[in-house]
Amino acid sequence: LVSREGHAERSTVWVGPVPIGPGTLTLIAGPCAVESPQQTLEAAQMAREAGAVLLRGGAFKPRTSPYAFQGLGEAGLKILAEVGAETGMPVVTEVVDARDVELVASYADMLQVGARNAQNFTLLRAVGRSGRPVLLKRGMSATIEDWLLSAEYIAQQGNLRVVLCERGIRTFETATRNTLDISAVPVAQRLSHLPVLVDPSHSGGHRDLVLPLSRAAIAVGADGIIVDVHPRPERALCDGAQALVRDDLRELAGTLTSFAPLM
Ligand code: PEP
Repeated sequence: LVSREGHAERSTVWVGPVPIGPGTLTLIAGPCAVESPQQTLEAAQMAREAGAVLLRGGAFKPRTSPYAFQGLGEAGLKILAEVGAETGMPVVTEVVDARDVELVASYADMLQVGARNAQNFTLLRAVGRSGRPVLLKRGMSATIEDWLLSAEYIAQQGNLRVVLCERGIRTFETATRNTLDISAVPVAQRLSHLPVLVDPSHSGGHRDLVLPLSRAAIAVGADGIIVDVHPRPERALCDGAQALVRDDLRELAGTLTSFAPLM
């Protein structure tokens, strides 16, 4: 279902009025985690000003340590939906448990399946039945074939509105949080008709890497970028080191528009 075979053209996935696919460059931005109404609104305004068309933000935060901030849950979803409506941006947020799919879908325009859940087949089937478009991160140890087969689980439920997202894989390298597998973009586009985004924030793990990795992603043909932004990264409850501030985001948007008009 997700194979490129039989598809002369790659597909476009629509999230409300926003297309993700060939011929457009989609910028998705927002806080890694929803922390408060004020922080989310400020991050969303930064995103909107820079030209982002979708708002990202985590309400359920899967973290490596159980002692790290785990997200605001449903309160976070409410904040995200309100801020999305106020700033005119459809919302993409992660769902980590199949039992929460309906709840998250009642607030979000697009459901995200994170790297840690990329082979949670019960969750994949549940988002497949949700009727919402899905942003599917690549698992940190998933081969490209594994990743596409995860997409197939979603598609099998009748949902072909799946967007793939390369977010770095685990390698022996420790200088970056993960290793951005830039070759995964053209390979996935050759093997599948689904759009492919890149997350330079979770791959590099540091704000200084976001711009160069984004340039690389666009140069190899990614259909867009999803980035973390925060009005005060030094106080962020989650992944502050990789969050862009206002000027970084403007610079990133300027660079992207030099490749293609931002959708
Ligand atoms: C995220 O985008 O908030 C996230 C946790 O990403 P990943 O699943 O790629 O680690």
